[in-house]
Amino acid sequence: METKLIKIKDSANIKDVELAEAAEVIRRGGLVAFPTETVYGLGANALNEDAARKIYAAKGRPSDNPLIAHISSMEELAPLVSEIPEAGRRLAEAYWPGPLTLVFPKSGLVPYGTTGGLDTVAVRMPSDPVASRLIALAGVPVAAPSANTSGRPSPTTARHVWQDMNGRIDMILDGGPVGIGVESTIVDVSGSVPVLLRPGAVTMEMLEKTVGHVEIDPAIQGPPREDLRPKAPGMKYRHYAPHGDLVLVEGAGMEAVISRINGLAKEKTDQGFRVGIICTDETMGRYRWGQVRSVGMRAKEETIAHNLFAVLREFDDLKTDYIYSESFSREHLGQAIMNRLTKAAGYHVIRV
Ligand code: AMP
Ligand code: MG
Repeated sequence: METKLIKIKDSANIKDVELAEAAEVIRRGGLVAFPTETVYGLGANALNEDAARKIYAAKGRPSDNPLIAHISSMEELAPLVSEIPEAGRRLAEAYWPGPLTLVFPKSGLVPYGTTGGLDTVAVRMPSDPVASRLIALAGVPVAAPSANTSGRPSPTTARHVWQDMNGRIDMILDGGPVGIGVESTIVDVSGSVPVLLRPGAVTMEMLEKTVGHVEIDPAIQGPPREDLRPKAPGMKYRHYAPHGDLVLVEGAGMEAVISRINGLAKEKTDQGFRVGIICTDETMGRYRWGQVRSVGMRAKEETIAHNLFAVLREFDDLKTDYIYSESFSREHLGQAIMNRLTKAAGYHVIRV
């Protein structure tokens, strides 16, 4: 299949003619990758099971890992769900459009092929103008997981999407680099207490301000356990991982962290391996072995979320064998950053 690449001239002043062909592809059951404010999504008609099947095939994604349906206005929610619980209504009012996905009991309209066989449906209203207008023009809810090969770091630029999806999908809309850089926060509002299934840019602190107590699914905090069936089925799969062996070094004292990373990097370099180091602007000058990359500024954690997946992908391009990374605080946006980093590392964390 030939993948058509369409460059969006000015996302803030998007013209319908630029999106007409993409909307048509989605309506007739094809696949279009498009920018959102979180990461690039791989879109298809969420009400068409054959189209959903194409998403799973293009990503190499297990078919029990459900898809998020994206909408462009509040009126598009009601037909997809059998009920809008109070917590869901309040969270949607507070944070839509934006980087928050809500899990509702599904209506009969949503096929099981999109929900991985579940009786719930995950819905998000993105704020990115290209995403929003594309969904409106398509006239259907758009199922859109991240537009990467399953398991790899999520794409934050059209080039990342091209690397993974060229030849496998109909079209890529290039709207430039995304803003946030990590996937949406997911909250299950289908039960009596809201449950956080995936941390993102709408933080725990923000959620609790809107709806009071929010529980945290245990699968967020640690490695998958055999006896725990995660609520977000995607949690059980290896995620976000670079090809190289990624290890996090965590400690209260930055000096001890720097010294351990330097020690590990020297050891592997001496053995002839390609080594990468993930650090921050604050510590960039302190490392002496391997390819050293700053992921952003510790003092501005949104810069770290923004660059994280691009840095992991760069180490794939460099064919790095071992990657050592500093760790971050788990507060606010740090919860999302550390969730992605620890998963990418297969929970390999060294404490110093
Ligand atoms: P991605 O498509 O890569 O952004 O990942 C979507 C995430 O949403 C996966 O972890 C899914 O398991 C989760 N998800 C989608 N639908 C549901 C649902 N109905 N219930 C729980 N989690 C869901
Ligand atoms: Mg994904």
